[in-house]
Amino acid sequence: MNDSRGEIWGLIQIFTGNGKGKTTAALGTVIRAVAKGKRVAIVYFDKGGTTHYSERELICDRLPEIGLYPTGLDRIDPITNKFRFGVTEEDEKEGERGLAIIRKLFVEAQHDLIVLDEINSSTALGIINEKDILTLLDQRPKNIELILTGRDAPESFKDRADLITDMTLVKHYFYNGFAAREGLDY
Ligand code: ATP
Ligand code: MG
Repeated sequence: MNDSRGEIWGLIQIFTGNGKGKTTAALGTVIRAVAKGKRVAIVYFDKGGTTHYSERELICDRLPEIGLYPTGLDRIDPITNKFRFGVTEEDEKEGERGLAIIRKLFVEAQHDLIVLDEINSSTALGIINEKDILTLLDQRPKNIELILTGRDAPESFKDRADLITDMTLVKHYFYNGFAAREGLDY
């Protein structure tokens, strides 16, 4: 498919790799799309809780036209503030809920762009089933642009992508002892 007018939407973009910038690149694209009156939804995988995703507050308050669908349990323990590793049955249930949301959004076909944040990493971790997602990708309405973010994008996703950006970790202040900073990292 080659449209020299740049009017065709419906491609698959993947932002993956170990470096920082995957989710923020997706959010930057969302801003650009909304600026041009496009209808956007963001489905978050494995990103429950409300306290450490500043962009959601902004979107709820000032860009309510963006559909926000957070799924997943809170990975940060509210008491110890520590990250919870591993995958539980509850994590998988939340993953299923995320897939059901995508299914519904595809049936409704009301969006021009849908971001599936952390779908790559959630698949690699086994929170969601790779084959189920492939079925969804292959049945998606053809005009909906998709952005799939997260580390360790499965090869089967990459095979279907029109764009793959691999964020390379060259340096990250995290390794010099700087914790995640509100407003920059979350
Ligand atoms: P961002 O949301 O900042 O664009 P990301 O989506 O590329 O980051 P994730 O894998 O989703 O990265 O991780 C989210 C959080 O982890 C962010 O706070 C980010 O700064 C941090 N992070 C990203 N890459 C690394 C890394 N290589 N080492 C440690 N922390 C990282
Ligand atoms: Mg991310």
